Amino acid sequence: MMHIVYMDNNATTKVDPQVVEEMIPYFMESYGNPSSMHILGGQAGIKLKEARVNVAGLIGAQPEEIIFTSCGTESDNTAIWAALKSNPGKKHIVTTRVEHPAIKNLAEYLAKNGYRVTFVPVDRKGRLDMDFFYESLTDDTAVVSVMWANNESGVIFPIEEIAPVLRDRGIVFHSDAVQAVGKLPVNVEKVEVDMLSLSGHKLHAPKGVGALYVRKRTKFSPFLMGGHQEKGRRGGTENVASIIGLGKAAQLALERHEEVNTRVRALRDRLEKELLERIPNSMVNGDQEMRLPNTTSIAFEYVEGEAILLMMNELGICASSGSACTSGSLEPSHVLRAMGVPFTAAHGSIRFSLSTYNTDQEVEFIIKKLPPVISRLREMSPFWADREGLANAVCSVQ
Ligand SMILES: *Cc1c(COP(=O)(O)O)cnc(C)c1O
Repeated sequence: MMHIVYMDNNATTKVDPQVVEEMIPYFMESYGNPSSMHILGGQAGIKLKEARVNVAGLIGAQPEEIIFTSCGTESDNTAIWAALKSNPGKKHIVTTRVEHPAIKNLAEYLAKNGYRVTFVPVDRKGRLDMDFFYESLTDDTAVVSVMWANNESGVIFPIEEIAPVLRDRGIVFHSDAVQAVGKLPVNVEKVEVDMLSLSGHKLHAPKGVGALYVRKRTKFSPFLMGGHQEKGRRGGTENVASIIGLGKAAQLALERHEEVNTRVRALRDRLEKELLERIPNSMVNGDQEMRLPNTTSIAFEYVEGEAILLMMNELGICASSGSACTSGSLEPSHVLRAMGVPFTAAHGSIRFSLSTYNTDQEVEFIIKKLPPVISRLREMSPFWADREGLANAVCSVQ
């Protein structure tokens, strides 16, 4: 069987075997409903409590401040609706142009339904325009939602700088930290966000489980109304096994934090450096300093990202491109467009996102195999032949 080199960890991660092991008893042995007053309910309930302590521990929160959800998207949606419902007089939202669709699409919906939304731009390196950000805040601002780190470029936003300003102004501050948790030292004791989203499947827990941190003093109202679960803040019988998996993954993430920031970072840096050296007309999208340690988005000019992905797939290399091919239009992603990445570079952008499972040999393999792939594609590319004429074409900024 072909060895799979998986470098698409910002899309999802492998579930850690230790996580699976923790989960298994809660399917067929301790399968009670944690609300039930019998032994099987009790077993599930105790372990649920433990998971809450572990998830809280990963981000420096109190266990009562953690609400388990079905995914990062639910956490994001819950946070925004909670802030709006708690501040019914205020009709303005501030977010960024590069948020994940879980925030972006909700914000666009709200902009069409009675709210005013400011989408703060980013510069060519994907960094937030801070002057624009501060100027956009008003007395009518109900909530600010700024992601901790971007899933495509890996660029980290200055959450710790923004948080105290918003606290002083009494504006609810939510951060989508789905990509940051487990890779960066996210700590809500030190950084005063009011709400923060995380997702299990981005840190080696299963898909379909997430958490929303809600600071004690922050007003909250539930998104899913139903039973008394999660202290009435999120109805629905708990996804016990997955929550237990998330708890274990949180523990492992704390233990592996150092490795992500040393060994994995070094692998990413080597991959990036060697590809840039071996492949002409290639460049990194986004700030190389303030960036997640596992992510690199590299533009290979004058080739189609989808073609690169297909050929890498043949070699067993999994990564992702910077275009939204699902739309059928092959438009570059909203993130690369917001950064003003030139048309010819945005189309050939590939994101490699690593994890602790990656090895030196895998990086070696990509360094060896990718340059000839790019050369071959360029030989067939009309853009490459016509590159002089295309050099100045810039993507339209949304
Ligand atoms: C993956 C991701 C989400 C969505 O999380 P799901 O659990 O897949 O719903 C939200 N925000 C960011 C930044 C992400 O990377």
